[in-house]
Amino acid sequence: MSGREMQYIQEAFESNWIAPLGPNVDAFEQEFAAKVGATHALALSSGTAAIHLALIHLGVGPGDEVLVSTLTFAASANPVVYQGARPVFIDSERVSWNMDPDLLAEALARKARQGRLPKAVILVHLYGQTADIDRILAICNQYGVPLIEDAAEALGARYKGRSPGLFGKAGIFSFNGNKIITTSGGGMLVSDDAELIAHARKLATQARDPAPHYQHSEIGYNYRMSNVLAGIGRGQLQVLDERVQRKREIFETYRRTLGDLPGLDFMPEAPWGLHTRWLTVITIAPARFGATREDVRLALEKENIESRPVWKPMHLQPVYRGCEVVGGAVAEELFEKGLCLPSGTAMSEADQTRVVEVIRAQARVR
Ligand SMILES: *Cc1c(COP(=O)(O)O)cnc(C)c1O
Repeated sequence: MSGREMQYIQEAFESNWIAPLGPNVDAFEQEFAAKVGATHALALSSGTAAIHLALIHLGVGPGDEVLVSTLTFAASANPVVYQGARPVFIDSERVSWNMDPDLLAEALARKARQGRLPKAVILVHLYGQTADIDRILAICNQYGVPLIEDAAEALGARYKGRSPGLFGKAGIFSFNGNKIITTSGGGMLVSDDAELIAHARKLATQARDPAPHYQHSEIGYNYRMSNVLAGIGRGQLQVLDERVQRKREIFETYRRTLGDLPGLDFMPEAPWGLHTRWLTVITIAPARFGATREDVRLALEKENIESRPVWKPMHLQPVYRGCEVVGGAVAEELFEKGLCLPSGTAMSEADQTRVVEVIRAQARVR
């Protein structure tokens, strides 16, 4: 926490707005939209809820297909299944680790020939870095398929100078506890489309019709953000730039102190944008490094230091067994070799030195 959150929480208590609506929610939506450059923003209970509402608005339903990045957290794909639709997973490229535009083009061309285009594409911006959005958007536009940007991990990043989340039909962000800024739990849906946001806003409040009594013409959800948590979000938003700067410093320290080790590489920063380095992610080539990714992870764990393998691709998840995947080898390799290092902005220099020493001790050339 930055220390500025308490003032907004206090205001919520003093004005008795302890509800899933109120002045902090309105202000957080406005301040967030201004910060990222979005036209409209809707504060929700989670990023997952934001994806779900975007899919509902786009009419995704039983039997439909939605193309999704395979290298991601399950929350990117699960809302497709909530709607009774089927995800089709697309592999990563090596420049940004995000969706490969060539594979997307191949998949859409094939599906167009078969006369069954997907209802949407969910593009994930992984670990603080954007995908090659212009290329992906051009391909989606060619086939008239709407693009949803999952920018849950990429708040503060830049694509050609702009925030991710603003390019497609809708963008989503997350304020879960592990994200670059947090409300403990929460999300934001952004769009240029006022109708999309208005519909999502209605769906998120149990789809209540405008009538004095309780009347409902469609199935709704309880997805709004609490006015108390929105107060946390307002305080957090003010330190976003500092957080990005600190995350990038942490990355630079890892690069300076580990970059000489053979077989150890860092997630690349693509030429089109700014990587927030929400997490510093390395890959380990065992033959040259002298140990596997798992050796390194276990050595860290022995010192009570938590690190995590890169996301297990969706097409390898038991729950998504049998789903179609286009490519897959790049994501599989990144999962096998990739390790997310401790990257918290509260980490001290001494903490980071400990992490580095454990990793160096695993390398053949120390
Ligand atoms: C965290 C995350 C989400 C979901 O956000 P929640 O707010 O936790 O629901 C979606 N996609 C990705 C890639 C994420 O990392």
